[in-house]
Amino acid sequence: MAIQSWNPATNEVLKVFSAHSPDELENLLQRADLAFVNWRKTLFSERAELMRKAAHELKDNVTYYAEIITREMGKPIRESINEIKKCALCCEFYAEHAETYLQDEAINSDASVSYISYEPLGIILAIMPWNFPFWQVFRFAAPSLMAGNVGLLKHASNVPQCALAIEEVFRKAGFPDGVFTTTLLESAAIETLIKDDRVKAVTLTGSEGAGASVAALAGSQIKKTVLELGGSDAFIVLADANLEETATMAAKARMINTGQSCIAAKRFIVEEKIAPAFIQRLKRHLQNLKTGDTLDEATDYGPLARPDLAASVQQQVDESVAKGATVLLDGGRPDEESAYFHPMMLTDIQPGTPAHDEEIFGPVACIFVVKDAEEAVKVANDCRFGLGASIWSCNVQEARRLARQIESGAVFINGMVQSHPALPFGGIKKSGYGRELSYVGIREFVNQKTVWVA
Ligand code: NDP
Repeated sequence: MAIQSWNPATNEVLKVFSAHSPDELENLLQRADLAFVNWRKTLFSERAELMRKAAHELKDNVTYYAEIITREMGKPIRESINEIKKCALCCEFYAEHAETYLQDEAINSDASVSYISYEPLGIILAIMPWNFPFWQVFRFAAPSLMAGNVGLLKHASNVPQCALAIEEVFRKAGFPDGVFTTTLLESAAIETLIKDDRVKAVTLTGSEGAGASVAALAGSQIKKTVLELGGSDAFIVLADANLEETATMAAKARMINTGQSCIAAKRFIVEEKIAPAFIQRLKRHLQNLKTGDTLDEATDYGPLARPDLAASVQQQVDESVAKGATVLLDGGRPDEESAYFHPMMLTDIQPGTPAHDEEIFGPVACIFVVKDAEEAVKVANDCRFGLGASIWSCNVQEARRLARQIESGAVFINGMVQSHPALPFGGIKKSGYGRELSYVGIREFVNQKTVWVA
C-alpha cells in the first residue's frame, strides 16, 4: 500500500511511502506504550524544557518546515511560515502554562480534604487533516504531551512528509523515543488502532463522515473522542459596521488557506442597507488577490490541496447556480484536471442547495442579504454546523447581546475567527464536540480524579 506525497501546484509526485505493515505498527505501539511508563512520571519542568526545545527547532528552521507544507498541500509560503511560527508559540505556551492548568484543584465537601487531580491517560491517537498540517497536530500534541500523555499520529494520506517532519521536530528536541510517533496508515487501518487496548482516546479533525465513523468505533470501545469537524461560519455585517475595514477582513477570512479552513468565514450575512457597498468592496478585494508560484511570498492563494477537492467545490457551485444562485464574481476551476480554484461570490442562494446547506471548503463567498440584525441571527443559526461566527458592528454592546444568540463554539466581534493557545476551540451541532486548547482543552485527555480524605 503506497502513500503519496504530491504537489498540487505542479502536479509533481514528490515521494512515495509504504504504509506501515501490521508488524511495524505493533512495534510502534509497543514503543509508545513503554514510553508512557516513564513519561508520565516526568516533572512538568522536564517536559517544559523539551517543549521549549521543540519551539526552538521550529523557529530555527521556519523555512525548511514551511516549504514542506507548501510543496505537499499547496498553501502559499507566507501562510506556511505563519503556521510554523504559530506552532512554536503553542509549544512555548503549554511549556509555560500546562502545570498551572493541571494543578490539583481543591473542592469543599464533606471530606477534611478533597480535590481533583489531573492525570495522564496513555496513548492518545490523533487523526489529523491536511489543511493546517502542522498546526492541527501541534495544537493537539503540545498540551497532550505536557499533560503526560504520549501521542500517536495518523495524518491525512496526502501529507506524509509533514507527518514525518513533525516526528523529526520532537526527536530533535530530545523527547524520548515513543513519546510522539507518526504512523503511515490509510484510514482503513484505523479500526485496528482504535480497538487496541493500549490506545486510550482519540481526537479527530476532519470531515463529518470521518468524525462519525471514528466516534462510532471509539464508542464501541468505550473510548473518549474529541471531534473538530466542519464549519460554515457566519460573518455578520451590521449596517453600522466600518465597511472598508470589514470588507478587507471578510476577504481575508474567506481566503485563509485558499478557503480550506473549518473556521473560514463562509456565509456573509449582510444588512440590506449596506449590502451593495459591502458586496462591491468584497468583490474588489477578492479580484485583487494574486495567485502564482506557491513558494513566492507575494502569492496570495494557491491551489486546493487535491484536484478532487477542487472538483467537489465546483460541483457544489454548479448545483447551487442551477437551482437559482446568482454569480456575483466568476472564478472556479480553470480546467478539469486542475487543483486550482479561483475566488467566487454567490448570492440569491436557495435552501436545499449545497451553498445553503453544506460547508464549501474552497474560496467561494456566499452572500445572504437580510433586513435587520434579528434576521441575521436567524440565518446564521439556520445551519447544521456551529463552529465559529463573527459580528461586525460599531455597537459592541449590541454585538455582545447578539453573540449570546448565535449557535456556535465561538463568536468574534470585529475580528476574524481564529484559534489562540489560550482560548478554547471547538464546535457544537455537526461541527463536533469537546474542545482543544486552553485549560479546557488540556483537560479533555486526562483522568479527572477525585481524591477524598476522611
Ligand atoms: P477527511 O475527513 O476524509 O480526512 C481527515 C482525516 O481523517 C485524514 O487523516 C483521513 O485519512 C482521516 N479519515 C478519513 N476517513 C476516515 C475514516 N472513515 N476513519 C478514520 N479516519 C478517516 O477529509 P478529506 O481530505 O476527504 O476532505 C473532505 C472534506 O472534509 C473537506 O472538503 C472539508 O469539508 C472537511 N475537512 C474539514 C477539516 C477541518 O479542519 N475541520 C479539515 C479537512 C477536511 P486519509 O487521508 O488517509 O483518508
